[in-house]
Amino acid sequence: MFVEFDVAQKDTDLGTVAAGAAQILPFYLAGEAGDSALIRGRLATVSGPATSILARHGYPDAVASLQAEALAIAACLSTFMKFDGVFTLQAKGNGFVKTLLADVTSDGALRGYAAFDNGAAPDIGDDMAASMPASVPALLGTGYAAFTVDQGTENGRYQGIVELAGETLSDVAMAWFANSEQVDSHIVAAAAKQGGGWVASALMVQRVAADGGRSSPSSNADQDDAWTTAEMLIRSVTRDELVDPALAPEDLVFRLFNALRPHVAPAQPVADRCRCSPEKVEAVLARMSAEELADLVAESGMVEVTCEFCKTMRAIDPGLSRH
Ligand SMILES: [Zn+2]
Repeated sequence: MFVEFDVAQKDTDLGTVAAGAAQILPFYLAGEAGDSALIRGRLATVSGPATSILARHGYPDAVASLQAEALAIAACLSTFMKFDGVFTLQAKGNGFVKTLLADVTSDGALRGYAAFDNGAAPDIGDDMAASMPASVPALLGTGYAAFTVDQGTENGRYQGIVELAGETLSDVAMAWFANSEQVDSHIVAAAAKQGGGWVASALMVQRVAADGGRSSPSSNADQDDAWTTAEMLIRSVTRDELVDPALAPEDLVFRLFNALRPHVAPAQPVADRCRCSPEKVEAVLARMSAEELADLVAESGMVEVTCEFCKTMRAIDPGLSRH
């Protein structure tokens, strides 16, 4: 399910990234000794899409922070997909937040939504949300998270499910890595409200598997050393570094992993783009019974359907959906 990074890819000319730009920066770490890729990584910066997505929803800051982290983590993980498709991170909890969802296509269309208990107050204050990673126990409680790759083909769907474990969404993603016996991986994510918008990013490193498969105990010593160092370095990254809009992604990668000789590849764009359409809504309505449809008809005589991701409202003539 994960694709090997193309080590022959040419390094890019490093440029600065405009504030609010959204991208996923692939990189690899060659280690102190050689120039082959021992560790691969991704730095997903999704501040622009997170800001526009969250602006449409009006979540409490604590929920928005969790949603922004989910968008960043989904973007980061999506680029390891081997084929074109959709990567989805979904969490279901029994706490204030009932459902948290973020999905991203292989061409970088990012979206998400959270469903939460409007009648209850979250256990976490907005001031807390502004200074810490969003707390999974405080916001989601207990439950599970599903990581899904869907290629849109009959056999092209893979899903891994883990219990909500640890303090943060990054911890949950790490539990998924461990559970699915991926190669050694480590991810960190952070989001923060700044000015009128949100800054969110996720950084991941993963051991490059020998012979295209899973790493074995006999992996070479250089890679063991590089992995130990990479994991130490990614643990050292601060939240302030991850949410600093003035720090270009390339600069963060080079600053953090300098000792392991980082190489970066061209960044891949990510954008706030929903996949809903009038045709998809009509297809759903066409499968409903006349009674179900009648319940949905508004005073206008139309069925009004609002996309829970992008909040687009569509008024569909119920007669048109029956064929
Ligand atoms: Zn939509």
